[in-house]
Amino acid sequence: MNIPCDTIRDLLPLYHDEVCSQESRKLVEEHLADCESCRAKLAKMGKEKPPAMETARPLKEIAETWKKSKLDAFFKGALLISLLALIFGACLLISRLCRRHKRRK
Ligand SMILES: [Zn+2]
Repeated sequence: MNIPCDTIRDLLPLYHDEVCSQESRKLVEEHLADCESCRAKLAKMGKEKPPAMETARPLKEIAETWKKSKLDAFFKGALLISLLALIFGACLLISRLCRRHKRRK
């Protein structure tokens, strides 16, 4: 069976990761037996595949940054709320003092 290189190249990532069907695997292997360019493509794919640690690291960094910024936002929010409460309390106190002062007059 003569399968076009394009079709095989679509299957190569699946073949490389060993997730394609037995049938596809057989077809790819048959094609690779007499196609130099697809073999080269597969070999390149093997080199390009990064180790698991390399792909996991940026994700971990993102998660840590997100966690940090979440904590940061929480503290900023808490600070803002306590500041507003303080201002509100001060206003209440001042208005009460003013009322008391007016009554005395
Ligand atoms: Zn080919």
